[in-house]
This record gives sequence, C-alpha cells and structure tokens, in this order.
Amino acid sequence: MDLYEHQARELFEEHGILVPRAEVTDSPKEAREIARRLGGRVVVKAQVKTGGRGKAGGVKLAADPAAAELTARQILGMDIKGHTVGKVMLAQPVDIDSEFYVSYVLDRAAGRFLAIASAEGGMEIEEVAATRPEAVARIPVDPAEGVTSAKAGQIAEAAGLPPQTVDVLVRLWQVLVREDALLVEVNPLVRTAQGHILALDGKVTLDDNARFRQARWGDGTQEHHDPLEAAAAARGLNYVKLDGEVGVIGNGAGLVMSTLDVVAGSGARPANFLDIGGGASARIMADGLSVILSDPAVKSVFVNVFGGITACDAVADGIVAAVDSIRLTKPLVVRLDGNNAARGRAILQERAHPLVEQATTMDGAARRAAQLARTA
Ligand code: GDP
Ligand code: MN
Repeated sequence: MDLYEHQARELFEEHGILVPRAEVTDSPKEAREIARRLGGRVVVKAQVKTGGRGKAGGVKLAADPAAAELTARQILGMDIKGHTVGKVMLAQPVDIDSEFYVSYVLDRAAGRFLAIASAEGGMEIEEVAATRPEAVARIPVDPAEGVTSAKAGQIAEAAGLPPQTVDVLVRLWQVLVREDALLVEVNPLVRTAQGHILALDGKVTLDDNARFRQARWGDGTQEHHDPLEAAAAARGLNYVKLDGEVGVIGNGAGLVMSTLDVVAGSGARPANFLDIGGGASARIMADGLSVILSDPAVKSVFVNVFGGITACDAVADGIVAAVDSIRLTKPLVVRLDGNNAARGRAILQERAHPLVEQATTMDGAARRAAQLARTA
C-alpha cells in the first residue's frame, strides 16, 4: 500500500528527519486558517498517490491566506493522472539551495535492497537515469547489515551528496525497516539556504504482508481504481479485473492461474479472476460470485474448485446460496473436484438451476464457458 505524502511526512518526522511545518485539509476555508497559522505564505500540495503533481499543477505557492484558500479551492477536486484530489497539504515554503534524490527500494531479484541517490533531485529520477545515468548512484544494501553511518557515507559520496545528508540516510533506513516499507523515496531532499537538510516530498510503500501491524493507515481499500476491486478487497477477496468476457473463480492462486490459461486456450478471454482462497466457505463463495456477476463485461462464469480444506459440498452450498440470493442472469459452468466432489455435484444437480451447468474436466468446463460467452 502506498501512503500519501502527508503520511510519509509524518513518518519522517517521527524518525527525526526534518520536514517543513504542514497541515492537511479538505476545506478551502480551513486552508486559509492553516495558512494564517503557518505564517501566511504556503505551498499548497495535492494529496494523491501519484508523482508528478508539480507538473500537473497540483503544487502551488500561495502568497497569503486568501490566496491559499483560492489555490486550495482550485486544487481540491482536480484530477491528476486519474486520481481525484480529496485533500491538500499546506506547508511552510522553504528557501531551496539544492535538491537531491534519495530512495531505498527492495531489489527482489537480488534479494536485497538498493539505495538510489542523486545530486540532481527535484525532477523525475527516471528522466535523470535515462539522460545522465552517471548522475544516479545505485548502491546495494544488505538487509541484515542495513544502513549504518559508514554505509550512508558511501552512498552520499557515490551520489555527490553533502556530508550533512548522512544522518538523514541512516534515519530513512530506519523508516524503511521499522515501518515495514518496501520503498521509501524523498524527492526532493533539499539543502536550504540556511544549510538544513529537509525532506520536501515523500513516498512510502508499505509491505501489505505487514498490514496487520500497520493498522493506523487503514485498510487501503480506497486505493483501488476499479469499484469492484474495492468491493472485493473490502470482503477480503483477491479480485483482479481483466478485459475479456469469461468470469473466473477458483480457490488457490495456482489453480486460478491455470484456469486463466485454459480459458485463453479455449479461444475466450478472462474478464477477471477471483481467488476465493484455500479455506473457501459458502459465504465467501456467495460474496465472490456476486462480485464477479456485477461486472457488466462478464458473459459467462467458470467456477473451478478443487476441494481441500473446504470440501466441495460446502462450496456447492455456497453456489446454491448465491444463486438463490441474487437474480442470476448469466450462465455458470462449475467444475468441482477433490474433497467431497461427488456430494458437491449432487447438491448442484438437486438444485437444478437452469443457468448452472456442471463439467467434469477443467478443459471441458473452459470450452463450455467460452462457448456460452460467445453465444450470450
Ligand atoms: P511532485 O511533483 O509530485 O514530485 O511534488 P513535490 O512535492 O516534489 O514538488 C514539486 C517541486 O515543487 C519540488 O521539486 C520543488 O522544486 C517545488 N517545491 C515544493 N515545495 C517547495 C517549497 O517549499 N519551496 C520551494 N521553493 N519549492 C518547493
Ligand atoms: Mn517530488
């Protein structure tokens, strides 16, 4: 999960990294009050989980509280790369002497972290890396050793950053480790005219696997662009929207992946996929089906379940409960196998819903679902 700039700023502050004084609001009137508290002149910044806000007009200087209100009114509701601005942060302006770039990012392939730093901050780092690769230092960081003062010294030297940044580099590493982050990025990290080192912008990506101990940031459901993805996440389901016409539900990531393959192999395209997980209960099945069926692109649904911890009869009960609680308008092809498959099949047969068919093989089921999607 990505954090908003103001949340990243809060973490930096907690770990002793200097940041400008700032406050967040969703109201232009309050923006005026905040600007007054901060001394009049403020930078008004859109809070959206995407970069390049400056270029998009989402970062503006306001000369006084009245201008801050006006600017906040302009920026609130603005669309930046598909993200609607719901809040603005007002920050005390900083007198910049130089701008740097620093980040720590997980390098999955190498099984370690990478420190990326440059004395050419402010602009997008991808741009700097493309045009002047020698201006971007990339230093591997062993996760067990971390960033000590000595290591931070190496990073600063390789990137041509002033020695005062060493302390910030160490603290930023502590943010990464202690807050369960996969990425921390400061762009720009600035040296002010007074010689202080301040983080002027921040991006932090938390590890979703650590969400249980990072509850203060909420469940992150608001970050889903697709409303169905948000609805599924709210029910704890793993749903991904694709662009075909056959809805796919399966239990377990491996089975779902191969289900996508057989659907593609039958000449249709998956519209989405939903993994109801290893311990899929009747309730989860019902929730999953209602999510899949509310996708207007879905013409038919392939339910592929291999009974394990949750037996097929429980899954069949879930399907029956689902088709009885929603008005089913699209055909379902169900393939049950594994634990209690015979009992599960019997339950579906007895219910005999006209839009629910069964198939015994995965390939047969995929072909049938593809055919139904074509003729729908
Ligand atoms: P981004 O465009 O989404 O990366 O947003 P940033 O927060 O990085 O702001 C973009 C640019 O605005 C920065 O690179 C700075 O050059 C400038 N900026 C932001 N805050 C201040 C400030 O307090 N003072 C000055 N002089 N410039 C600022
Ligand atoms: Mn930035």
